[in-house]
Amino acid sequence: MKPVLLAAVFAAVSAPAYAQSTGPAPLPLPPAIEVPQDKPYPGLIKLSIDATDLDRRIFRVRETVPVAASGPMTLLFPMWLPGNHSATGQLDKLAGLIITANGKRLEWVRDPVAVAAFHVDVPTGVKVLELEFQHLSPTATDQGRVVVTQEMLNLQWNNMLLYPAGYFSRQISIEAQVKLPNGWNYGTALEASAIAGDTVTFKAVGLDTLVDSPIFAGRYFKKIDLDPGGRSRITLNMMADEAYQLDISPTQLQAHRNLITQADRLYGARHYDHYDMLLALTDRMGGIGLEHQRSSENGSNPRYFQDWDKLPTARDLLPHEYTHSWNGKYRRPADLWTANFNVPMRGSLLWVYEGQTQYWGYILAARSGLLTKQEALDAIASTAATYDHRIGRVWRQMSDTTNDPVIAQRRPQGWTSWQRSEDYYSEGQLIWLDADTLIREKPGVPNPSILLPRHFLGSMTATGVS
Ligand SMILES: [Zn+2]
Repeated sequence: MKPVLLAAVFAAVSAPAYAQSTGPAPLPLPPAIEVPQDKPYPGLIKLSIDATDLDRRIFRVRETVPVAASGPMTLLFPMWLPGNHSATGQLDKLAGLIITANGKRLEWVRDPVAVAAFHVDVPTGVKVLELEFQHLSPTATDQGRVVVTQEMLNLQWNNMLLYPAGYFSRQISIEAQVKLPNGWNYGTALEASAIAGDTVTFKAVGLDTLVDSPIFAGRYFKKIDLDPGGRSRITLNMMADEAYQLDISPTQLQAHRNLITQADRLYGARHYDHYDMLLALTDRMGGIGLEHQRSSENGSNPRYFQDWDKLPTARDLLPHEYTHSWNGKYRRPADLWTANFNVPMRGSLLWVYEGQTQYWGYILAARSGLLTKQEALDAIASTAATYDHRIGRVWRQMSDTTNDPVIAQRRPQGWTSWQRSEDYYSEGQLIWLDADTLIREKPGVPNPSILLPRHFLGSMTATGVS
């Protein structure tokens, strides 16, 4: 340190506490974005997506937003996404935004702090804003998850809409429409109101439901009723890179139907009016496992059915995501629920949301035959062995890892055991294993046939479990 600077430090320390220093002073921040209110947004937003550009992988968006008054208005791009538990909205892939009203272009200004907010000044007499933009989905894996191939696409509405600030998501009604590639089939939890050629219009829903209801669409597509004649419709919607990969054997089909039966026995209630399992069998589109209340997005090996015996690690995904319809969606940790998609989420209870789901995912997989009992035992034993040597436990509690979706966003790590990484999943799973076995040891508790014996962790050996 240079002597002159040292002298300046001493001068500052010895000065009275109220004295102002010399040097730059901060500019005030711009006004905060409107806090969402629980009141209906006036009018119906209409959203139209052209999803046919498979070569460029570009989704073209047109949106009409009714406005009730002239003056300043803020439109938001969804950033805080359920299931991701963090601000992972793909704002960088929004391009070409042009807003018009009564045929005249309106200038927009991006908020310099809340950069997913676009400010416009609505002229007097304007009743509707017309928006046009594109979602430039990744053309290579280094840009993010590839969601369009020549054979399939995964449309997530949150990537291709703007919505008005100041309202709860559920109070904003949207009627969405999508044009799919010629001859493709699709699956989604949304209900169609009209189909004209390859264009599907869906019944209007709240913004929260729309974002919770993505689409899988594909050239090779198969739908299977998993609960014929059941109390609510449950459909397995499958798409694949090649047609033969959709061939499911009677035994494999029965295991997927058993999942529904076993979940009914475990949970009793169904936390949806219908459910669409979306399953992509591909190594061309990016992988995914993302829960929703009436559907789930699942990606698996293209030879999921053909190489069934070689891929046990792929077979707990559907039970995991299906469990989330209840644990995470129908019931959600209070601090994780947000009024709209631009309010920060807090994940303090992810060890319940993900940890318990991880536990029941394995149990249901074993009970349905998606995994053998031994495969489930081996998987949990492997998890327990991992935490025998998780050295990061000496400085960081598992509960602190519930901040990892915000801190790390699943970036690669150099020192996973020391840093820890979303350990609320698997270490959380072991907590719920212990809770379950404790309950079953109580006198009078029926059904002692738990998958695993009590004190499982203590009885583990180096080669697995007994
Ligand atoms: Zn999960």
